[in-house]
Formats: sequence, C-alpha cells, structure tokens
Amino acid sequence: MDTAMRLTVYGQGAGEAAGLARERVLELEALLSVTDESSDVCAANRNGGGVLHADTAALLERALALCGETGGALDVSIYPVVRAWGFTTGAYRVPEEAELAALLERVDYTRISLEGTVLTLPEGMELDLGAVAKGWTGDRLMELLRREGITSAIVELGGNVQALGSKPDGSPWRVAVQAPDGSGYAGALEITDCAAVTSGGYQRYFEQDGETYCHIIDPADGRPARSGLASVTVVAEEGAAADALSTALFVLGRERGEALWRERGGFECVFIGEDGSVAVTQGLEGRFSLYGAWEGRTLEIVRK
Ligand code: ADP
Ligand code: MG
Repeated sequence: MDTAMRLTVYGQGAGEAAGLARERVLELEALLSVTDESSDVCAANRNGGGVLHADTAALLERALALCGETGGALDVSIYPVVRAWGFTTGAYRVPEEAELAALLERVDYTRISLEGTVLTLPEGMELDLGAVAKGWTGDRLMELLRREGITSAIVELGGNVQALGSKPDGSPWRVAVQAPDGSGYAGALEITDCAAVTSGGYQRYFEQDGETYCHIIDPADGRPARSGLASVTVVAEEGAAADALSTALFVLGRERGEALWRERGGFECVFIGEDGSVAVTQGLEGRFSLYGAWEGRTLEIVRK
C-alpha cells in the first residue's frame, strides 16, 4: 500500500493480536497491490478478470457499491488514466487531450461484472482499488482485533486512521488532521469506534511548468481533481466508506460534497479549502478543533 503503517493495541493479548493484524495487512497487500505483478489485482488486469481470491472479491463488491453511491466520482476502473499520468511508476507526465479521451473510453465501473468471485473486465479495462483498499483493510483489522478480544486499539494506515473503541482510559482518540500547506497540523479530531480518512492534493503530486498535478483523478475528464479543496477528511464507522468518500469528495468539491452528505448521510467531514478556509459538517461540532498555527481561523459549521 506504499505507506507507513502503525498498529497500536492495548489490553491483554495485545502483542499477539497486533502480530496477527500485521500478518493480515501483509496478506491483503499481496492480493491488492496494483504495482505488484504477482497480486490478484494485477493478474485480473492482465487477464481481463478471472476467479478472484475471496478477499479481493469482497473488497471489489463493496468498492463497486461505493462507486455508485458517489455517482462515479469514485471509479475503480480509473487505472489506465492514473498510469498515463505516471502516478504508479513515478514517470510523471502530462498526457495529451486525445490520449486522455481514448483512455477514458476504458473507464466505467458500471461495465465491470462481478458474480460471486468471478470477475469479467471489458477489453482494455483495468482495476485500481487504491482509493478504498486501505479503508477496507482497516475494517478487516477491526474485525480481527475484536475477534481476539481486544476492545481498544488504533490503526494508522498512511492517511487512514481507524479506532477500535476508545482509549484504554475511556476517553476518545485524538487524531491530527494535517495542514495541507505543510504547516504541521490544522486541527484535532476526536473519534471513538470509527475511521477518519484524509484525501488531499498535497500527499502525492508532481509539478510541471508551474502547475501542480495531484494523484486523485476526476473520472469526468481524466485530469487531476481541482475542486477548490486542499484536503477533505471523512469520519465514518466503516473504513471502506470513509476511504471511498474522502477520495470522491476531493473530486466533487465542497458544494457537491455537502449535497452528498445531506443525501447519503452516514458520514461527517472536514473540508479544508485551497483558500485556507475550514468547514466541518454538524456532526463534528465540538469534536473538531483548530490547532497550532490554524487556531485563530474561522471554523464554519455546515448544517443539514
Ligand atoms: P491515498 O491512497 O493516497 O491515501 P486516496 O484514498 O484518495 O489516497 O486514493 C488515491 C488513489 O486512488 C490514487 O493513487 C489512484 O491510484 C486511485 N484513484 C485516483 N483517482 C481515483 C478516482 N477518482 N476513483 C478511484 N480511484 C482513484
Ligand atoms: Mg480514499
């Protein structure tokens, strides 16, 4: 998953449970990586589908449902476009308009067929589960830890944080939300038994001729998303949903993001604009506070 991870587990049996969780992450990484030639996802991309491992199929099924819920702002078939920009290989470039148009012909998650574990990909179509995989992995780790009798743990998978229960002393976990301008932390979020996932243009990007190109692609035009948001953090019970929605909201921008929040519900979010503005949906009122250099700013509350 190409990121640093930290698993912190408390209570009796914590060491053993953390060890099992670590193994589970490595097992899922081996199945899901889009850059590891031997992964289940790469094999499916090479072969136009096939019989998937049960884990890969379960993740894909959930991811396809989430693509639908975001109206296609999240599209797990975006891989040919992501690769053209060089985001998987590091060979960054700005593709021509015609090249993007041709690649977009191969992007449409509604044409993916998944029957049980049997996947069929239309000609030229390739999967990239990167926008949901870490969140979904977080859910599996929560499951595993619960099964091991753990009631307090926090798992950090790159920009994804997922909490099991509360801190051992019963208080909520405090999660830092990074300042997208690199000035440390913008704020702190209190969470219990849920996931907090951030997507931002500052995490992975390249610059060319004074333009910045980020790794989240708008499936509508095949170009890096430029919706006016510098980052968006989504808080939801389910890690997979939080991960999917943070990517989708970064594409959609604040206005359409708020509309999705009102219509779909089931999540809360922190919007940080490119203009430095900060807004949180009303469920986070009192659970998010500005921090450090950001403390003096106005915190807007988005209401239903
Ligand atoms: P990160 O994995 O860096 O935390 P995200 O969860 O937002 O960030 O996922 C971004 C990754 O998902 C990209 O690196 C790319 O592989 C893939 N991706 C980019 N745009 C989209 C999109 N619109 N829908 C689905 N996947 C995307
Ligand atoms: Mg995501």
